[in-house]
Amino acid sequence: MDGGGGRWQVGESAAQAAVQEFPATGEGRIDRMNQMMCRLSRQARFLAVVIAIQALLAPVTNGLTGFAQGFENRPSLFPDSRQGFAEWQASYRSNLAAWIMGGGVPDRVPLNAQVTNICDYAAFTLHSVTYNSLADRTNTLLISLPKGVARAPVLLALHGHENTWGAANPAAYTPGNVDDFCAYFAERGWAVVQPATMDHTLQHPSWTLIGEWTWDSIRALDYAATLPQVDMDRVGVAGLSTGGLIAMSVSALDDRVKAGVVAGILTTWRHVKDDILVPPNCDCGMIAQLSSRLEFCDWAALAASKPVEFQHGLLDAQFCPGADPALLNPASCVAVMPQDEYNTMFSEVERAYALAGSPAGASTLIHNGGHEVDNEAAYQWITTNTAPEPGTLLMLLPVGLAGLAGLLYYAWKKWK
Ligand SMILES: [Zn+2]
Repeated sequence: MDGGGGRWQVGESAAQAAVQEFPATGEGRIDRMNQMMCRLSRQARFLAVVIAIQALLAPVTNGLTGFAQGFENRPSLFPDSRQGFAEWQASYRSNLAAWIMGGGVPDRVPLNAQVTNICDYAAFTLHSVTYNSLADRTNTLLISLPKGVARAPVLLALHGHENTWGAANPAAYTPGNVDDFCAYFAERGWAVVQPATMDHTLQHPSWTLIGEWTWDSIRALDYAATLPQVDMDRVGVAGLSTGGLIAMSVSALDDRVKAGVVAGILTTWRHVKDDILVPPNCDCGMIAQLSSRLEFCDWAALAASKPVEFQHGLLDAQFCPGADPALLNPASCVAVMPQDEYNTMFSEVERAYALAGSPAGASTLIHNGGHEVDNEAAYQWITTNTAPEPGTLLMLLPVGLAGLAGLLYYAWKKWK
């Protein structure tokens, strides 16, 4: 359709033009039909080549293309302004509680806590406790209380499918256990609270499993807060695998938590759905409950601006971005998380933290281990990010000086 001397005139339909191009007269019509067939044949060959190239590249590009398209238009995408993000975060924290806890954060009931057992270790005592997380729900927890520490910082320790389901496991307080980050912190003066989680029998139909475990964990912190030996101004959380997802939920919903480590789980729903096989893996129902509502990066964004380190082990090929595919168990997972996809996802976590005023608050750590917590890195991250603010130390200085002066006066009076 050109504007001047061309044959097709503005206003002509394509059908009309075709009729003019191929007049129905004798040999001329046959020649023109042959020309048309040649032209169609060239187009068909070109199309065939394009389709073949796409087919060849499909295994490489389909995941990323599909991921990128869905990711950019995901329902939980947060706005790109500070105020917009703050409003989104408040709204989505409520949404998360509503989705997983039967409509929202429940009312607190009396804990009715009872210590049922105390075990003695070299550096701490380990207390077994029963408590009510809901009026009709009883749970158990373990808490280590360090010896010789007046006010111990608190670590909420959360395991996933790799450890005992439905109970807290005292073996995690001994080095060598798959969750010995409990031991690592407990031996260094921390009160390590491990609530029972991972019981896969849902008690309340309107809740989800991850919601029950999240609330049981928050209530376990409520119990820690009743103890004079702990410092509730210094609370961290560490979770492995599904325990990492519980840690993300607790960090989003409980302001007592100041810092966290989430190990072996931050990913995308694209990877979970396309690459990880359920069964044999267990998703605890979350694909159906959350995958269409809350992308992983946005789940992580709910904790901003609290410092959180997201760990992955290079030997954990199922979750570690860019891991060696030869390490995959094809009966469990058919492809590793592409590094580009992880970077795209994690750049959104970083965008959230920047909008929350803490651009360095979220960090990815790749370690040389497997599906486990890097204990030393976790300890450094949480210790550093739960340390008292310098301002707090300065405020305590006059109290310390007054105490010292009192002691000196007392000693002088005695000597005199
Ligand atoms: Zn499960």
